[in-house]
Amino acid sequence: MKKLLTVGEILVEIMATEQGFGFREPITLVGPFASGAPAIFIDQVARFGQPCAIISAVGKDDFGTLCLDRLRGDGVDVSAVSQDPERPTGSAFVRYRPDGQRDFVFNIRHSANASIAATEETERLIAGCDHLHVMGTALFSQAVIDLVLDAARRIRARGGTISFDPNIRSELLHLSGLREALETVFAMADLFMPSGNELFLFTKAQTEEAAIREILDGGTKAVVIKRGLEGASWFSRDGHVSVPAYRVEEIDPTGAGDCFGATFVCCWLRGMAPAEALALANASGALAVRKRGPMEGAATADEIARLVRSASRL
Ligand code: ATP
Ligand code: MG
Repeated sequence: MKKLLTVGEILVEIMATEQGFGFREPITLVGPFASGAPAIFIDQVARFGQPCAIISAVGKDDFGTLCLDRLRGDGVDVSAVSQDPERPTGSAFVRYRPDGQRDFVFNIRHSANASIAATEETERLIAGCDHLHVMGTALFSQAVIDLVLDAARRIRARGGTISFDPNIRSELLHLSGLREALETVFAMADLFMPSGNELFLFTKAQTEEAAIREILDGGTKAVVIKRGLEGASWFSRDGHVSVPAYRVEEIDPTGAGDCFGATFVCCWLRGMAPAEALALANASGALAVRKRGPMEGAATADEIARLVRSASRL
């Protein structure tokens, strides 16, 4: 089976138990939960049963140990996750607004994640993996950007493939070098997996149809659009298909896009038909929102297949 690699932040998430705006007054928080978009993604890949690894860094502290134990326990190869004695594990505080939007306070730039760098272990993984998945949030420091671009070029040169989820967080967009790095990864991606308006990040097109045509003409093999409660769509030069979402009770929306992406990429690497892959990926996103905590809803392939067989579509 193909081995999947991602690079990027592992952090803990601490979340507000009540809705509201920001963190300007004392509130009740719950956590720490293992998190970070690349970490959620790769945990779901492992739970789906695909060989996989993450290149990252955590601190030599309890938060780092919590995350490493969790990922290792679920089957992720963490041999290239370093434990930095100088910097703490990153953290993100999150609070939901009444309309479902989220406020984040990230503590990541000076965390261990900023020390992700090439080592013997990262070299070995880059040489041994068949597919690289890139999350836009991972590209927050020049060291990570250099590592991701080097991994992408080498995996591609060996005939491997790249998927890209821009996963834009407005709190991080101002960071220097991020925009250029996003464009470089976009240009190399076989699979582009935006959510909502992220489709228009790299085009001047005004309509979805025009944007997709431009992206496919530019050499991207397929575009997968995540549409939340409206499910998801696949577009390639051979055609397109949309598949509705599953009806579940939403407890915590964090992680839906990452789990969706993980399951979709695994199915795509296994050569599954797009409609079948979208159904499993939608089910994976639906299961992700049923549990509190970013990674707690990552489900096994059996659980995902069971939802596809039994659930009602929205
Ligand atoms: P994120 O905010 O995690 O980055 P995203 O915007 O990348 O998410 P979404 O479109 O929100 O991605 O979610 C991905 C998929 O998960 C959707 O296409 C849908 O199939 C499923 N999903 C998300 N939220 C729900 C929900 N409340 N109920 C059922 N399915 C959902
Ligand atoms: Mg997302």
